[in-house]
Amino acid sequence: MAKLTFQGATGEVTGSRYLLETDDARILLECGMYQGNSDADEANRAPLAELAESLDAVVLSHGHLDHSGLLPKLVRDGYRGPIYCTPGTEELLEIMLEDAAFVMSKDIEWENKWRRRADKPLLEPVYDIDDVATTLGLCEAVPYGQARKIAGGIGLTFRDAGHILGSAIVDLIVPAGGRDRHLVFSGDLGNADAVLMHEPARPEHADHVLLESTYGDRDHRPMEETVEEFAQVLAEADKSGGNVLIPAFAVGRTQEVLYHLSMLHHAGRLPQQKVFLDSPMAIKVTELYARLRRTLDPEDMDRLHQAANGDPAAYLPGLQVCRTVEESMAINRITGGAIIIAGSGMCNGGRIRHHMKYNLWRREAHLVIVGFQAAGTLGRRLVDGAEKVKLLGDEVAVNAKIHTLGGFSAHAGRSQLLDWARGFQDQPVFHLVHGEPEAREALAAGLRDELGAEARVPAFGETITL
Ligand code: ZN
Repeated sequence: MAKLTFQGATGEVTGSRYLLETDDARILLECGMYQGNSDADEANRAPLAELAESLDAVVLSHGHLDHSGLLPKLVRDGYRGPIYCTPGTEELLEIMLEDAAFVMSKDIEWENKWRRRADKPLLEPVYDIDDVATTLGLCEAVPYGQARKIAGGIGLTFRDAGHILGSAIVDLIVPAGGRDRHLVFSGDLGNADAVLMHEPARPEHADHVLLESTYGDRDHRPMEETVEEFAQVLAEADKSGGNVLIPAFAVGRTQEVLYHLSMLHHAGRLPQQKVFLDSPMAIKVTELYARLRRTLDPEDMDRLHQAANGDPAAYLPGLQVCRTVEESMAINRITGGAIIIAGSGMCNGGRIRHHMKYNLWRREAHLVIVGFQAAGTLGRRLVDGAEKVKLLGDEVAVNAKIHTLGGFSAHAGRSQLLDWARGFQDQPVFHLVHGEPEAREALAAGLRDELGAEARVPAFGETITL
């Protein structure tokens, strides 16, 4: 018998974790961090020792922290088995997990400062840089399309999910009481219209499909319209004389935004002379994308290369990368005419908060939201029209113009999800994960009504038999 237990990302978009059990093996699919809401920190601190001890292997779809961010915690709590992922994911993990540990150590330092003064018990980090190093040592890279036998005789194949560098659809053949059960996990499915990534692969066979549902209730605007809207926002910002702030997701979105800025520049439609990439992590990831550019969509890369007359140094001449805090702080003196791309993507931390403090109260400033904003995050409050926000201890009025460009999403929209689901020939059962409740329900309804498929919305902790 084979069982699957939903241990996270049920009715929300963070904390992905699913436990696959057969008579011979226990496999953890994802070990994601909880992000955004106020219970996240507590959820991330929950002990994993019992789980860690019981596992034979971990399989990871991609490097985003909501899928991978608690791996070092699992390792800190005792896990020493293999972590299967693609080569691209393995490289990304190094950047992402080291950054996560660094951010955590800074937060803890800050938190413990007041705790010490208040005579409160000090906090331990969820994990540290040594746990990250051990975690990276457990990674076993499996390239796309290569079948691998893992614990319990389970067959694992990764296929390109087209979401971020290295992202995979996880295809598992699970021995279960004398017969094989076929489980496909979509991971995060890419948006076929997005630049740089390939289109998501389309598996045709499965008994059960775990399908993400982030945008299960809506389609994105077409890419050309989104790029056009982006160009208009930049023109408007130029006219008003303010800066343009772009909260950046370090992986994928940043590189995509830079790509569009490059193309706009070469089309003579980028009025801003200076583009600051103010995120050490996004800089590292951008360098990784450049190094692994052969794995990216060749048509998109050709287009950029030709626009720049074959000179990579001319892709985006106004680009300045800011690695140090001093370089970042120097931007504060610029009151207009610049584009500032800084993390974090949902504005919950990182350097973007400093730039917001210096710009959000200015009527001429523009904030461009280019990615999903989870409930409970500062980014979401701004999208929802907050008039004042608290930034680094100060209350700041929101006078800047807020623009939401949904079309840049790295996730498939509703029609793309339904279309991908339609590709399965053997009428699998769909289990919808990784989506807020309305999105998940809406996609389930679509799968039932439009495909006549069986679609379920599993509850947290629920176990199903495959
Ligand atoms: Zn993702």
